[in-house]
Amino acid sequence: MKITKLPTTHTKTSSRLTARSLTIALGLSLMTTASVAATAPTAFSLPSMTAGANFYDTYRNEQIAAWSLRQIYDDLPLVEDPWANQVLVQLSAELNAKVRTQQLYATPLIVDNSMNAFAVPGGLIGMNTGTILAAQGLDEVASVLAHEIAHISQRHYESRMENNKKLMALQLGGLIAAIAASAAGGDAALLAMAGGQTATAESAATHSRENEKEADRVGMQILVQSGYDAHAMPRFFSRLQRQLNINQAKNAFMPSFMQSHPFTAERMSEASARAASYAKPVMTAKHEQAKLFDRWSWRIKYLTKQATYAELVANAPQSEGARLALASWLADAQRHREAAQVLEVGRFDPADALVCITKSHLAFAQKQYDQAIEMIKPCQAIYPERRDLRLILAKYHIHAGDGQAANALLSPLTFDGSHDLSAWQLSAQAYELMARAAASDHAATIATINALRARSQVELWRGQYQGALQSLAQADELAAGSDRTKLMRAMLAKDKDAVISARDFRP
Ligand SMILES: [Zn+2]
Repeated sequence: MKITKLPTTHTKTSSRLTARSLTIALGLSLMTTASVAATAPTAFSLPSMTAGANFYDTYRNEQIAAWSLRQIYDDLPLVEDPWANQVLVQLSAELNAKVRTQQLYATPLIVDNSMNAFAVPGGLIGMNTGTILAAQGLDEVASVLAHEIAHISQRHYESRMENNKKLMALQLGGLIAAIAASAAGGDAALLAMAGGQTATAESAATHSRENEKEADRVGMQILVQSGYDAHAMPRFFSRLQRQLNINQAKNAFMPSFMQSHPFTAERMSEASARAASYAKPVMTAKHEQAKLFDRWSWRIKYLTKQATYAELVANAPQSEGARLALASWLADAQRHREAAQVLEVGRFDPADALVCITKSHLAFAQKQYDQAIEMIKPCQAIYPERRDLRLILAKYHIHAGDGQAANALLSPLTFDGSHDLSAWQLSAQAYELMARAAASDHAATIATINALRARSQVELWRGQYQGALQSLAQADELAAGSDRTKLMRAMLAKDKDAVISARDFRP
């Protein structure tokens, strides 16, 4: 989850032209359902809308994404499991790359059973676990992500932002408050807190009909170009529609995907007709998608404690995902021998990331940290680019008391400006270990300064600006104490500026 560099050139006019000429070229805005099916929209590449953003817009959008992420870290229950997050990061990155040159900023996965997904300018896409659990395949989840990515790539939020910045701030604040209230199960206090803002946000967040149709259309192109089934979109839409009806019948509060992205019969029929014009994806891709989705959905059920032992056992014979989740469940329940048996009988691919993670988790659950390290290390060496294996191995090293090894793994994730909260948390712990184990006072001071700095990042990303400034002040005091650490003061001063500008930022 690196923050991409800002593009340097580009003017705004060019993007508007691209958007318009695209619409004109395909004539989609005037199309009827029948003519959509007749046009085979195969051989055209999507325009890169990022190319249209000027330097200031791009910078400001990224600040908005960062601000939103701090609210989300502060307010919402998130899935912290690195593997489950990795799947979402990779899936959304793959889709995003089809239409945008800039990487997505972040894709937080929110523990909430209602189906929802939302996008924020600057490239943040939030998704509820309920969306994944309601889907019946990876392509259905991908269709929701593709729709959200299309909102960002077509800059649907930004035109409104330019028209009315205040509305934008209210919307974002209200959106996050509403999602927080929903995640808390519609808790009355939170609901009251979100208050009037929520009502405004719900109606303001409502996209125009045109934007929704365009997001569907561009989203489906993204979906197909990424090798997914176009029919997944109308299929999932109708499932969402049924869910909304149930929720309405129960009078449940839900800032659902459908309230923020209003559904119409027209949208549904257009999506079905358009899907019919695309070829089906190849079987090998479908097989891989099915395998990954099976693991992902069972892992989320296990992580959110929605999979009972009986259910896992019943599904284990036909599902690798359920078998792996069962092994983790048994390890957590201290039924180690049974967990080992499930893993042995399962005949899993030893180089598979989730298999490595699950096997090492069993050792970890038995507090055999060195063994856990040995089990995941070969896997991490095969996939050095994967954040999940890096974080998990770092965590094991911390439990084994080796802060240095942990920080060596964490360093690519804890660069200047990184918003990787989990990585900063582990890094703070690792530096504390290093400070305690340091051979000299000087080494201990450096490690303590770094631990305080990592802690300030954790506080910053949780929106605890006062705490972040205090941690930095403590670090600065230590750095000022010795000639040999004076150079670190410049870094700390830069951090302090970043915290202050984050604190004072208003979308
Ligand atoms: Zn939408």
